[in-house]
Amino acid sequence: MSQTFVPEVDPPPPSGRPAWWFAVRGDDLLVAVSAAGETAIPSPVDLAELGLAPIRRQYLGTLDGRPCWSAELPAETGPSPGMAFLGLRALHPRLPETVYGVAGRAVQIVAWDRDHRFCGRCATPTEGVPGERARRCPACGLTAYPRLSPAVIVLIERGEEILLARGHRFRGGFYGIIAGFVEAGESLEEAVRREVAEEVGLALGEVRYFGSQPWPFPHALMIGFNTVHAEGEILLDERELAEAGWFAHGTLPRVPPKLSIARRLIDDWVARRGHAPLAQE
Ligand SMILES: [Zn+2]
Repeated sequence: MSQTFVPEVDPPPPSGRPAWWFAVRGDDLLVAVSAAGETAIPSPVDLAELGLAPIRRQYLGTLDGRPCWSAELPAETGPSPGMAFLGLRALHPRLPETVYGVAGRAVQIVAWDRDHRFCGRCATPTEGVPGERARRCPACGLTAYPRLSPAVIVLIERGEEILLARGHRFRGGFYGIIAGFVEAGESLEEAVRREVAEEVGLALGEVRYFGSQPWPFPHALMIGFNTVHAEGEILLDERELAEAGWFAHGTLPRVPPKLSIARRLIDDWVARRGHAPLAQE
């Protein structure tokens, strides 16, 4: 499958040619699974060919020149023969990075379209806006765009160690790094300092941008930072965290999987320190 995605909003005229269909049921995506276990996005001309009747569909753009659609399937839809419904976490190792990015986009656009059919101010049914990824109320003009929730995530270094923490709700009992949603009126750097102060009671040195990652669970944008410990001992917010501590390279516990920017930050630290890459998946 291709590696070039071009986002667009207004669909092209019907061509009778195959399209990539990112069909979503709940939070799961319909994929074709070959006898050899290879996973691919289905590409019929229309979902009706697969016996599927979507509730709504959204044009996403083109992948290597071929149109891409997202579609919302009814909750009772079963997988067609040779197909399966898989969540985004399970799909990450099974799809090329670009295709995975479109899949995350599709899941978010489907959820946004479903959840903004009525105006949040006056409850009138909303309408699509040509040329924009937006829904507008014809009565009061309120316009809804796909929601993104910015969240900061930060790797804190102290000498040869990094701070890792385990939340009560973390999947699989692994340790992660400090993260949290940005509040209204806050800069990203202020959010980093506030989250770290709240969760582990530490003051930080310079906060430097690392990179970002869409995190469609369900609509976060993770913004990663590097920083260093300035002062303070760990004082745990026990409502959020079960444990937190300083770990050197040789003593790292189980860390987040490669899917996450948390892991990219940790892997980057390992590489900068000249250590061997982590063997963990
Ligand atoms: Zn309205």
